[in-house]
Amino acid sequence: METLVTLCKRRGFVFQSSEIYGGYAGFFDFGPLGAELKRNLKAAWWDDMVHRRDDIVGLDSSIIMHPSIWKASGHVDGFADPMVDCKASKKRYRADQLFFAPVVVDGETIGYVSVEEKGGMEAEAAEKAADLKRKLARQGELAPLVLRDYTEANPEEYALIPSPATGKPGSLTAPRQFNLMFETKVGPLADAAATAYLRPETAQGIFQNYKNVVDTGRVKIPFGIAQIGKAFRNEITPRNFVFRSREFEQMEMEYFIDPDEETWPRAYRYWIDWCMDWLKSIGIPGEMLSEDVHPQEKLSHYSKGTTDIMFAFPFGVQELWGIACRGDFDLTQHQKHSGKSMEFFDETRKQAGKEPFRYVPHVVEPALGVDRLFLAVLTAAYREDEVPNEKGQPEKRVVLSLHPRLAPYKAAVFPLLKNKPELVEKARALYEQLRRRWSVDWDVAGAIGRRYRRQDEIGTPFGITVDFDTIEKDNAVTIRDRDTTEQVRVPLDGVEAWLAGRLG
Ligand code: ATP
Repeated sequence: METLVTLCKRRGFVFQSSEIYGGYAGFFDFGPLGAELKRNLKAAWWDDMVHRRDDIVGLDSSIIMHPSIWKASGHVDGFADPMVDCKASKKRYRADQLFFAPVVVDGETIGYVSVEEKGGMEAEAAEKAADLKRKLARQGELAPLVLRDYTEANPEEYALIPSPATGKPGSLTAPRQFNLMFETKVGPLADAAATAYLRPETAQGIFQNYKNVVDTGRVKIPFGIAQIGKAFRNEITPRNFVFRSREFEQMEMEYFIDPDEETWPRAYRYWIDWCMDWLKSIGIPGEMLSEDVHPQEKLSHYSKGTTDIMFAFPFGVQELWGIACRGDFDLTQHQKHSGKSMEFFDETRKQAGKEPFRYVPHVVEPALGVDRLFLAVLTAAYREDEVPNEKGQPEKRVVLSLHPRLAPYKAAVFPLLKNKPELVEKARALYEQLRRRWSVDWDVAGAIGRRYRRQDEIGTPFGITVDFDTIEKDNAVTIRDRDTTEQVRVPLDGVEAWLAGRLG
């Protein structure tokens, strides 16, 4: 993970927000290359989700909406995480990410250990248990630890569980619910009625516009509304770089279906498969992905099923994309709270004589975080290998094997030498031609090998060199492939077509 974070900083993908003031936890800025990569991710999703389908339309709703929306959706009362404070260190934990276990020696509990959730936490807890036994000079057999999260602790255990910050018991509070929505005030009066929220998800913007889309478009069930936009959550413990931040972007789609009992399982499976296939299509290897089906007892009361697509992040396997069958909960809630009908009149069913033909649609929702996807894509693309340098000797390099659709630059153009005007002029003309169509980099600095290496590290699929042969012999250029480092000679007037064949 450290390697990725360093690369992101060094090459201008991601910066800590407000760095000159010491940073601001949970907020990030995307630098020149990060902004390009993020833009390409969103464009790829939008193209495949909206442009290349007949049944999905797009939407761009406001971030701040009427507060009643968040009351109706259940966020005001229930969008909370359990929080626990350490009174000694002033540190805050999410109770469901704080794990503890009694330390039992020969059947007797001699104390407790606690760890924060992360890969390898079991080993860390075992080490702490062995330490405790040693410190208390206890002989006998240590029972295997059974880790539970802090939300499962009995009230009498709160005082016995040590804080991970101090290692001492007695400072952790009981868990309490902490609402994750950021509040703001709208209008000149600062009274309670002015309280509004920064949206914690983009989905509600879709639900509140569902009627508008039905009334103004020509959509027929089944159909979807997709949206990309910022979301804000006052996460108790933002961490793991851009994986969990307080300001992030979501790409969500609500797929509206009829209420027949056999419809949702089909749509559910279809969208899980679609999401998996899409991730693979942008270059994420299937073996880094898995499905996590939420057990029935963990589902919210209205949910018929939820599956998370998990990704093997450097810090462990974690949720990347959630696919949830939300039934008709959201639209029914808005119908109730707004007094406006959310029913859909299904002409096709009416003609077929199928009841009901007037109904509140059900939804399947694939919800993906852009920033998490950004991190997943970088994790999957990062490689260190050895390639021969100009002298034929093996040299270490870092390469981002990004899918060409995602790469910040699709190609880079180099004149072999920067002080030879004939080379520079030809190369510059090619660069001007190509950049009308793609995002292309121009680099004249340093030995050609170093320029290749620089482009490898930022994931540019092709390096194009204009050399003396170009002007003296064949009017062709050398194109080098980032992944194989193979080089081919392509006529200057055929470069654009050659690239188009590979980039689309
Ligand atoms: P988690 O359990 O990790 O907090 P969640 O289940 O609450 O996530 P959803 O409400 O389903 O997440 O949000 C949909 C998607 O938005 C997630 O799959 C994830 O990709 C992204 N996401 C959610 N919270 C954050 C965050 N704090 N930072 C970055 N991305 C996020």
